[in-house]
Amino acid sequence: MTLSIVIPIYNEEENVQILHEKLKEVLDSLKNEYEILFVDDGSTDRTLPILEEIQAKDKRVIVLSLRRNFGQTAAFAAGFDFATGDIIVTMDGDLQNDPADIPKLLALIKDNDLVSGWRKKRKDPFFSRRLPSVAANWLISKVTGVKLHDYGCSLKAYRRDVIKNLKLYGEMHRFIPAVASWYGVRIAEVETVHYPRLRGSSKYGVSRTIKVVLDLITVKFLQSFSTKPIQFFGPIGIISGFLGFIISVYLTLDKIFFGHDIGGRPLLLLGALLIIVGIQLIGMGLLGEMLVRVYHESQRKPIYVIKKILGPENK
Ligand code: UDP
Ligand code: MG
Repeated sequence: MTLSIVIPIYNEEENVQILHEKLKEVLDSLKNEYEILFVDDGSTDRTLPILEEIQAKDKRVIVLSLRRNFGQTAAFAAGFDFATGDIIVTMDGDLQNDPADIPKLLALIKDNDLVSGWRKKRKDPFFSRRLPSVAANWLISKVTGVKLHDYGCSLKAYRRDVIKNLKLYGEMHRFIPAVASWYGVRIAEVETVHYPRLRGSSKYGVSRTIKVVLDLITVKFLQSFSTKPIQFFGPIGIISGFLGFIISVYLTLDKIFFGHDIGGRPLLLLGALLIIVGIQLIGMGLLGEMLVRVYHESQRKPIYVIKKILGPENK
């Protein structure tokens, strides 16, 4: 089993040197071949020159330097694209994760496809970080049905095929387990240590909570309806259109048989609105269906994933 360690780094000039030393110590003690991919996410401080120095001395280090700051998810994605290991381990570059936990993850990856770290004693500010994260973790586990305690922990290990099947967008890295669950992966969780950030500053604040909620809605939608959008929009559209139809029929009969004036009645507006909304929603579902076909067929992306094929002709 070969290892690739993928680490997104944005303005961590005081951390990278120590991180590399700690990593090396842990990885050299393992029997596995390994590579360390530092993804410099457009740092503006001395991070990149320091990484270059590290790379010059250690040939197992690969430095990917992004042209500008694309964000942590994009940095992960870049690292995944270049990683060659059978097992891919991700972690933060600010020393809040401990490389010494890597063997723990590796022990579990033997029987799983994805192992996630759990910062049980998380060392981050309470109000701006830990409290929103408690709420977010609860919500994510309810909505996605993937039960983890700590989705946001960067320290994770993946089997290669899990990562290579994924496409990441937005701020989605914390949803990799949820997205990957679509492929039917076996997921395990393990307690890992967490340290306060001693050097450099955090790149995020409370505003991230809203982004997480929006990403969660996207993930949930894609998880449940990405290959059948009409099944999501259609039923609401049919119910809405049907209610509008009933209301309109009632008003029409009222006018014809009882001669009541219906022009100024709020019910008329409601009926018309429900019909229009119904048609719109069904239209959206149909558009979605077309998009799904374009998406899957243009990429020749099947709507299923095969784990292995058993048979005589199989190599
Ligand atoms: N990071 C990155 N690009 C960004 C923001 C962050 O590569 O745009 C990296 C950062 O250098 C660190 C990791 O992502 O290695 C986690 O960031 P941070 O420590 O700021 O997040 P927190 O631990 O506060 O959630
Ligand atoms: Mg951090």
